[in-house]
Amino acid sequence: MKYTDIFFDLDGTLWDLKRNTRVALEALFNEYAGYFNGVSFDHLYARYHHHNDHVWALYRDGLIDKEVLRVVRFERTFMDCSMEVNPDFARVFANRFLEVCPRLPHLVPGAMELLQHLHGRYAIHIITNGFREVQGFKLAAGGITDFFSQVIYSEVAGVRKPHRGIFELAFSLTHADPSRSLMVGDDWEADILGARDAGMDQAFLTSTEELLHELGTVTTDRPRRHNHQPTYSLSNLSQLLNVL
Ligand SMILES: [Mg+2]
Repeated sequence: MKYTDIFFDLDGTLWDLKRNTRVALEALFNEYAGYFNGVSFDHLYARYHHHNDHVWALYRDGLIDKEVLRVVRFERTFMDCSMEVNPDFARVFANRFLEVCPRLPHLVPGAMELLQHLHGRYAIHIITNGFREVQGFKLAAGGITDFFSQVIYSEVAGVRKPHRGIFELAFSLTHADPSRSLMVGDDWEADILGARDAGMDQAFLTSTEELLHELGTVTTDRPRRHNHQPTYSLSNLSQLLNVL
């Protein structure tokens, strides 16, 4: 077999970030209905995606810290919804979101079947920029914790994907050879360019990028699909079964 080790991104690649986010936001939209008079949920959802994507790019580049990220994405979303909110509401809402969302179980379609297929054939691991205190809840909620030999956190590496340092930590913890490793991810810059620069093959899951296009919220200041052909480009995870 060409590969010995398969590294996965978690959010949007295995754990269905968009579906779990939508379910959590809908639950909180109802829980705090009194604050959302006259606000369309679909508008709120689309604006959240826009701001979340943007603040994650700022976080990834080290320009803001995670406490700011968590609250600012909601402050900006609520402003776009023309809501008059008291200053504490975004913080309360952000805290509730962090309690609710990571405990939701929905996986990306095909994820469970793929992991069951790979388990025992390859060493499988996660490399995530997500926060250490919530990623474990997501793995447990999805019922996939036991598939992985190692979970490599950017907070432990001290740098985030696409920085080479987090991939080097991953190779050192797993003893994987980059030339016999595959990175599977949905973020062009963090996962695909990061893995390429670390000497790994890459499988790009395009569904998240397609959602952002649908919502009209792709940030235009980030390079996307320029000057690089990933090893595999997938519209769904099942397509990986054909090559692994
Ligand atoms: Mg992702």
